[in-house]
Amino acid sequence: MPQNRIAYFYDPDVGNYHYGSSHPMKPHRLALTHNLVFSYNLHKKMNVFRPSHATPHDMTRFHSSEYIHFLQRVTPSNKAGFISSLNKFSVGDDSPIFPGLFDFCSAYTGASLQGAVKLNHGLCDIAINWSGGLHHAKKFEASGFCYVNDIVLAILELLKYHARVLYIDIDIHHGDGVQEAFYLTDRVMTVSFHKYGNFFFPGTGEMYEIGEDDGRYYSLNVPLKDGIDDQSYISLFKPIIQAVIEKYVPSAIVLQCGADSLALDRLGCFSLNIKGHGECVQYVKSFGIPLLVLGGGGYTIRNVARCWTYETFLLLDEPVDEQIPKKSDYAEFFSPDYSLCPVMSGNFVNQNSKQYLDYIKQTVFDHLKFIQGAPSVQMQDVPPDLFLHEENECNDDSVESASYIRREHQGEYYNDDQDNDKANYEYN
Ligand SMILES: [Zn+2]
Repeated sequence: MPQNRIAYFYDPDVGNYHYGSSHPMKPHRLALTHNLVFSYNLHKKMNVFRPSHATPHDMTRFHSSEYIHFLQRVTPSNKAGFISSLNKFSVGDDSPIFPGLFDFCSAYTGASLQGAVKLNHGLCDIAINWSGGLHHAKKFEASGFCYVNDIVLAILELLKYHARVLYIDIDIHHGDGVQEAFYLTDRVMTVSFHKYGNFFFPGTGEMYEIGEDDGRYYSLNVPLKDGIDDQSYISLFKPIIQAVIEKYVPSAIVLQCGADSLALDRLGCFSLNIKGHGECVQYVKSFGIPLLVLGGGGYTIRNVARCWTYETFLLLDEPVDEQIPKKSDYAEFFSPDYSLCPVMSGNFVNQNSKQYLDYIKQTVFDHLKFIQGAPSVQMQDVPPDLFLHEENECNDDSVESASYIRREHQGEYYNDDQDNDKANYEYN
């Protein structure tokens, strides 16, 4: 077993689910990422776990039992009998019913929960679950391709052992589900960097959403315009995150690494490069605070896989090899250059002027002044662990040789650039 303290979670089935052939959310991107991570032999440098599935009981720590019970029962073949529930729980259109939906939710949620438990017990310093990060799901309903909010559930688990948890979201969409869940408390500080304006999904996240009651000033929003590039983004990200960590003094951080903030994303409109996105991840890691790293959006799947593999390198402190190994089963996705970090100029002009960026930064700093030191909480009676399943550490051979790796649906082999049904999806 490697001596470093990185735990990496991967369920070999999670890449085999299908939202639908024209739907932009492709779980196959997870198999692609995992395959690339393995092609680089990064699995030999960290502890790889096949996570246990989350149970309905685990999920109802946040979600209503009526909603979770519905997700358990509904299938593509019986959904006609659930018309009123489909409306009530906002399921069916952008967040469709597909075969194995509940198992998919159980898999990605189980991995995030298990990551939180390992961090709680000091069994790792960083836990990685690229299948998690579904930040839009709400207590009573699905939203933006997200059904069960693994992030909220993982933070609730962390709160059993940690007085203050910081949540950082670099997906292009506002982390609304997580913000809403913790809007009234100072025990979780949420910081989201996202596109805002022109009815961009989900429509929340303007800079004066700051939290309420005990949570006032513990929600921070950084609303951005189209085309933001690496330099502009980092010029906000680093000083804001540094100030937040100095003021709030979290003892655990959850980082949602949605890759739809990259240039050329099928649904996005930013101009970040993989190296710029990764610099944010590396910066958060540099504070040395226990860290749960999650995925999120990301719809140009070859770049999602590149980005999360690159960030796995950074989290491991391994020197990055930018030439993608041709032995990868999916090497064709990365032709002709086989570059891990291709330069991507993007299709959107940067509309974030220096004045606008300065204005946002100043407003955020003004809000931070109201945080009077780190709130404390008595942590006497620690509730029992949510998750007491057996360890499922994979040895290299069992993970590597599993036949799942090429069990993907042929429909996943679409060409990102030509498969343009973007107009049908306002959201992620
Ligand atoms: Zn997104």
